[in-house]
Amino acid sequence: MTEQRDVVIVGAGPVGFVTALGLARQGIDVTLIDAEPGIVNSPRAAIYHPVTMELLDRLGVIDDCMAIAFHCHGLAMRYPETGDIIAFNYEKAALPEQKYKFNLHFGQHELAAVIADHLARLPNTRVHWNHRLEGLVQDGERVMLGVETPDGRKQISARWVIGADGARSTVRHLLGLPFEGFTWPERFIATNVEVDLRALGYFDTNMVIDPVNWAVIARLSRGNLWRLTYGEDGRLDEETMWERVPAHYRAFMPPETDYKIVQAAPYRCHERSAPSFRVDRVLLAGDAAHACNPCGGLGLTTGLMDANALFQLLGAVMHGHVGEEALDHYARERRRIFLEITSPSAQHFKKQMSEPDPAVRAQQREATRKAMENPSTATMSAVISRRIVGGPLPVGAALAL
Ligand SMILES: Cc1cc2nc3c(=O)[nH]c(=O)nc-3n(C[C@H](O)[C@H](O)[C@H](O)COP(=O)(O)OP(=O)(O)OC[C@H]3O[C@@H](n4cnc5c(N)ncnc54)[C@H](O)[C@@H]3O)c2cc1C
Repeated sequence: MTEQRDVVIVGAGPVGFVTALGLARQGIDVTLIDAEPGIVNSPRAAIYHPVTMELLDRLGVIDDCMAIAFHCHGLAMRYPETGDIIAFNYEKAALPEQKYKFNLHFGQHELAAVIADHLARLPNTRVHWNHRLEGLVQDGERVMLGVETPDGRKQISARWVIGADGARSTVRHLLGLPFEGFTWPERFIATNVEVDLRALGYFDTNMVIDPVNWAVIARLSRGNLWRLTYGEDGRLDEETMWERVPAHYRAFMPPETDYKIVQAAPYRCHERSAPSFRVDRVLLAGDAAHACNPCGGLGLTTGLMDANALFQLLGAVMHGHVGEEALDHYARERRRIFLEITSPSAQHFKKQMSEPDPAVRAQQREATRKAMENPSTATMSAVISRRIVGGPLPVGAALAL
């Protein structure tokens, strides 16, 4: 028997969950399906800018997030070759009307869990784990999904489908859309480590600028859990990645440092986008639509701003407040923002962190020092993320959120 649904979201990651909660808050029936048995707990997004906190506030989940997250008030750019440390406080870069003047640090799986909890309290919502999308056809009226489950193959028919199934998106593949762009040659290694880096002079967020030993180092908890992400030669054997971790760590802490690695995972990072974020009744959001490298913390930020636009626009379409062309606005604008703002900024951060030319590095260091005197105009990710929100949405008068 075919299950009949209004909206099916493929992918119960943070983008899928936020989209689902935004739709459900407007009274829309939402079904999330995910191939895994539960929320994926790999070390990925951990840094949330004030614009994301404002969205979480509007969704009614900010208090729960604040309760579990580390509150980060500042950042340091570190230059090991000269010993320079350029530090500043986020409050200095905040606009006067900005409600939140700091960042939150916590794992994206924890964000997904908070949203899942709120979603479960709303009627007409369900999350189906162990449901892997394998087939998709649409006829202009409905979308038919073929889903593999532990009980065998199942058909789900939906009015609308959202592909939030990550960078290797099955939805995108089934729509026949390429993922245009490039892959960085390095392998990014994200580690979660218990260690007292404050005692070693680290700030709560650190960008280490070095052609070889570049890194993003950020505190993840009020205790001593830290994220340390560095790069290694992408041609090295991935299987032996663990053996090389101690040697990499020696660039960031003395050899006698007492640490315990909690998690470590290798990633290939991309600057890629689908050529369209909408094919008739199927829409793409988050990493399924676009992917960038993690320097600057802009990937999930952009995905959550996709979710923000999509739940408002699709909600307005389904309630008959606006026509379906509002979804073309979604597809066009979110793609433009990724291509014009997110990806160029993320590339700039990555290149700056590992700049090979000493003269260019020195020039950039002095430019950063100058920019930090007036951080509200600087090319900081907190400032850039405000542009990632996008302009007003054509949602008509009746907006639930
Ligand atoms: C090391 C690292 C650090 C990062 N740090 C940051 C940061 O600090 N800030 C930031 O903004 N971004 C950061 N990012 C980027 C961020 O992790 C991604 O943008 C984010 O995971 C995208 O979320 P998503 O919900 O779109 O996709 P995902 O989190 O990938 O979720 C996709 C879901 O779809 C499911 N799925 C896949 N295929 C199927 C299928 N066929 N059927 C059903 N379900 C399926 C998966 O099981 C998964 O649950 C980082 C990335 C990395 C690698």
